Amino acid sequence: TTTTETRAFEAEVSQVLHLVTHSLYSHKEIFLRELISNASDACDKLRFESIANPDLLAGDPELHIDVSWDKDARTITIADNGIGMSRDEVVANIGSIASSGTRRFLEAMGAEQKADARLIGQFGVGFYSAFVVAGRVTVLTRRAGAAPEDGVKWESDGRGEYTLEAATVPARGTTVVLHLKDGEDEFLDSWKLRALVRKYSDHVAFPIRMPKEAPIADDGDTKPDAAPEWENANDASALWTRPKSEISDEEYQAFYKALGHDFNDAAAWTHNRVEGSQSFTTLLYLPAKPPFDLMMGGRDERKGLKLYIKRVFIMDAAEELLPNYLRFVRGVVDADDLPLNVSREILQHNRQLERIRGACVKRVLDLIEKLSRDEPEKFAAFLKAFGNTLKEGIVEDATNRERIARLLRFASTKGDGEAKTVSLDDYVGRMAPGQDAIWYVTADGYRAAAGSPQLEAFRAKDIEVLLMSDRIDEWMLGNLHEYAGKSLKHVAKGELPLDEADKAKQQEATKAAAPLLEKLKGLLGDRVEDVRVSARLTDSPSCLAMSEWEMAPHLAHLLRESGQ
Ligand code: ADP
Ligand code: MG
Repeated sequence: TTTTETRAFEAEVSQVLHLVTHSLYSHKEIFLRELISNASDACDKLRFESIANPDLLAGDPELHIDVSWDKDARTITIADNGIGMSRDEVVANIGSIASSGTRRFLEAMGAEQKADARLIGQFGVGFYSAFVVAGRVTVLTRRAGAAPEDGVKWESDGRGEYTLEAATVPARGTTVVLHLKDGEDEFLDSWKLRALVRKYSDHVAFPIRMPKEAPIADDGDTKPDAAPEWENANDASALWTRPKSEISDEEYQAFYKALGHDFNDAAAWTHNRVEGSQSFTTLLYLPAKPPFDLMMGGRDERKGLKLYIKRVFIMDAAEELLPNYLRFVRGVVDADDLPLNVSREILQHNRQLERIRGACVKRVLDLIEKLSRDEPEKFAAFLKAFGNTLKEGIVEDATNRERIARLLRFASTKGDGEAKTVSLDDYVGRMAPGQDAIWYVTADGYRAAAGSPQLEAFRAKDIEVLLMSDRIDEWMLGNLHEYAGKSLKHVAKGELPLDEADKAKQQEATKAAAPLLEKLKGLLGDRVEDVRVSARLTDSPSCLAMSEWEMAPHLAHLLRESGQ
């Protein structure tokens, strides 16, 4: 006898379910993409585990995903012969927040409490999208290697509770049955389902099979008991293994969307095959818009760059394959020469991987440079989304510091108002003869930077000053002392560039002001290091300046804020 156990979803899961089902209404159809993506992940996992344990594939080595429907029962079924789940895994993976991004998802939704369809897959809450179209979902699953009687049946109406019971499941893998809600019958249609598979899942690397159209009987009805014959509904080729010349832009974009769970087109991509003592393929994309987890600072769990070895998916290896400041990159790396049973620990100290990582960084920087040259509008949008992330590279990647600096754009006293359009090359290109430094000012915001009294003397002398007002700028500038042989200097620090006439004037003024300076020094005492006559100001009577090695006021302020 089997006993049915009823359990409540964890509170957060109920919340996610509510959010997902209510706000995904206009993007209902992505349930199919998400369930197929889970089935594909399950096939990947089995293929990987079977490297060490070939018995897991026993008798059923062709991994595939089957999508079928039943008009009378009003169900859609997505079945895979992948890894399957044990009872504990079912409880942990669907129904609790333990192993998914559920909590982060809720945080990201924040006060707005509205789920954006783009985000569902990124946060590991894809399974719940089933409840957008289904009033009841049944999952039958059996872990690879487990006996048929050790299967599990999970069922829920998505309203706070689910049931679990032991079940006999004849084949390995997972079957998800969606019992459609009233009004969702449009999905019970061969043409519609096929179109969705092609739209969202064409590049899933396993065959997605659908029943062939049932033969039409003489009376015009479909024969009810014709055994289903399956045919492939997707392309199922690993896109990156095909020659570039044979892949259309549309195919590249479709692959990106499936890979990045993104609705938007990618901004650009680069696809390369390296042959030689070590051979590998890279297909790397720059997204056009930031994914949510990047904005949320989701640095601990970086996804988006998949490592394959000879077309076998090994793991998400963004951290091993790319530095942090390029964490927005999405893509695939397929290596020929790494051992298939490679573990994360081995990867971290692998010299072949070091080389691949170096190649990835180079390709991505090449790609961004190309975008900056060839597609200024896209490049501007890209910098808006990821410019501040890229700035981290100035600190993180000393080797490529100058290359990265060249890609950045800033607001400037000779720029386009608040818009960040001025490159360091632009600046250097219009430096006055004899000017030997790149001047900048830092502040909390553009207005404060542009209105700084420190700029008066520079304006008077027609010297350009970069206006830095992003939080990260101080940190970045602390590591960017030089560009193109010119040193970068804060306007409040060090000596102003003076010409001979100025110098003479200043000496005169200093002499004349000597009694005043003495008096001021006496009055201010220990509170200042020195009181000097300056050429810094033209309108304001006085200002605070810093010696060369002092902290900029803005940085001092930031550090105080963070309690240091
Ligand atoms: P994600 O796929 O991002 O982890 P989902 O909500 O889509 O988030 O799925 C949650 C988890 O449920 C998966 O990580 C996986 O462990 C499990 N799961 C879902 N579908 C399947 C399946 N077809 N086979 C095996 N495990 C599955
Ligand atoms: Mg998923």
